[in-house]
Amino acid sequence: MALFKRKQSHSFPPPHWSITKKCLDLIFECAKSSFPNEFGGMLKTSEGDKQLITEIVLLPGTIAGESHALFQMHMRPIDFTVVGTVHSHPSPSSRPSEADKQLFSKYGKVHIIVGMPYGYKSWSAYDYSGKKITIAVV
Ligand code: ZN
Repeated sequence: MALFKRKQSHSFPPPHWSITKKCLDLIFECAKSSFPNEFGGMLKTSEGDKQLITEIVLLPGTIAGESHALFQMHMRPIDFTVVGTVHSHPSPSSRPSEADKQLFSKYGKVHIIVGMPYGYKSWSAYDYSGKKITIAVV
């Protein structure tokens, strides 16, 4: 008997994520200052609005190519306002690698990848399945 892939049909509407411009600017700054290494961090929402990303928590000591290992170590639900991850790529690609997709599926609901040159046109957001999602910049 053939195995059918389970369709991802959630009955509830997808969350409408947003991020403050200030937070996004900080992400770009971190990406630039870490280059040519990757930087990794956690996305935190405000206490009042659980879908508004306002802060990043940097993972200290992130080194090139090791960010995924570091993420795994920090993947404990420390804080309910932590909703996902952010990391940079030292390349123009903001598409998730296979390792990224695995990371996304294990932890969090929203993930941001920033590619070079680390500006408003070089970032993307994904859900847990690696599907591209839209985040409003507010
Ligand atoms: Zn990546």
